Amino acid sequence: MRPLPEMRAEVLGVMGQLDSEIVALDEALGRVLAEPLVSPESVPHFANSAMDGYAVRSADTAQPGALLEILSEVPAGQVSGLAVGEGQAIKIMTGAPMPEGADAVIRVEETKVEDGRVRIAASVPAGNSVRPVGGDISEGETVFAPGTRLSAVHIGVLATVGAVKPVVSRIPKVAVMSTGDELQPPDGGALAPGMIRDSNRPMIMAMLAETGVDTIDLGRISDDAGQLRDSLGRAASDADLIVTSGGVSMGDYDVIKLVLREESEVGFFQVAMKPGKPFGFGLFEGVPFFGLPGNPVSVLVSFEQFVRPALLQMQGATAVLRPRTTGIAGQRFASDPLKEEFVRVAFTGSDPQLEVRQTGGQSSNVLSAAAKADAFAVMPVGTEEVNPGDPVILELFRALETRPFP
Ligand code: AMP
Ligand code: MG
Repeated sequence: MRPLPEMRAEVLGVMGQLDSEIVALDEALGRVLAEPLVSPESVPHFANSAMDGYAVRSADTAQPGALLEILSEVPAGQVSGLAVGEGQAIKIMTGAPMPEGADAVIRVEETKVEDGRVRIAASVPAGNSVRPVGGDISEGETVFAPGTRLSAVHIGVLATVGAVKPVVSRIPKVAVMSTGDELQPPDGGALAPGMIRDSNRPMIMAMLAETGVDTIDLGRISDDAGQLRDSLGRAASDADLIVTSGGVSMGDYDVIKLVLREESEVGFFQVAMKPGKPFGFGLFEGVPFFGLPGNPVSVLVSFEQFVRPALLQMQGATAVLRPRTTGIAGQRFASDPLKEEFVRVAFTGSDPQLEVRQTGGQSSNVLSAAAKADAFAVMPVGTEEVNPGDPVILELFRALETRPFP
């Protein structure tokens, strides 16, 4: 058996780098920066007020209760033509540029207008409630490094500095097929005797969509070498990566294995992980090929451990693995010490939300329990059991809400 980290290093090592392209900001979500984002501007671009209040000379507020002359007012989007002199103030709104002469803003709550003049209740230091030039970002600063995957917040920053044409990696195109004579389309009416619905392909397509990549659905392939060769040929000419399900284990009809072992540089491995031990990987006509197992939970785990990181790696992403944290076991877990095990768990504790329990059966065909999970409880190689109250590694493979509104 190959240790998972070793197998993954081999997989990621084979991934080439996709070309880059320029996209509009509204196409940039989830894309990976191919070049550093160097800000052409400082943010803020000009010193401005953080509060609604009065722009003053801080020295004039040294004595609490000072009474200052109100020169004018400056709303956001305008520039004051007047400068603040000794004993003077200009009424200012949040975001308006600081008038010349003023070095501080006093919040409107700490002032009172008396006979057209303003009484200052508190003394403030220079810089009070002022957002200085470049306080957030300096002109010429590298704000984001290449390899950054753009979230909505990153897109906000790009817009802030006017970087509306980010250079990002091209999106990988992934060809998907499921194999097995027993597969019936999910919408294919009542199940014929001995048949099951093809659940892997819709799930893989959805996981790819969540990863933000393009897909080519090559459909169901029966356990027939000719049909498989045709579909693989199409996949290799159109796609950057190929994902199949089924046909990689020890059965007599494991057609993927039979065809590819003879005709390509694809290898078939036993990975020291559970679920997801059988795994086919290599280059098919130069295109990375991922032969996932047939059992649906194995598909989920193998996708998470190999396909998703590989797709991010091809795009040059710096971070390719899901976040991990530590939780507390809410039950006993038994584990195979020879394999890295991924137990499907949910947060069941109240406060703090750390305690996890398994969501149901842990056989690799029990997909409903995996759907109820928030995380994988990861049992490293060497682990035989984890007892209630023990710390447990959690891999957060779903960024969904876990807390109901009380
Ligand atoms: P295999 O690796 O092809 O022997 O498949 C292992 C198990 O997964 C068998 O019980 C298959 O029926 C099941 N299986 C294979 N492909 C799919 C699929 N696309 N959707 C649901 N179950 C599948
Ligand atoms: Mg099969």
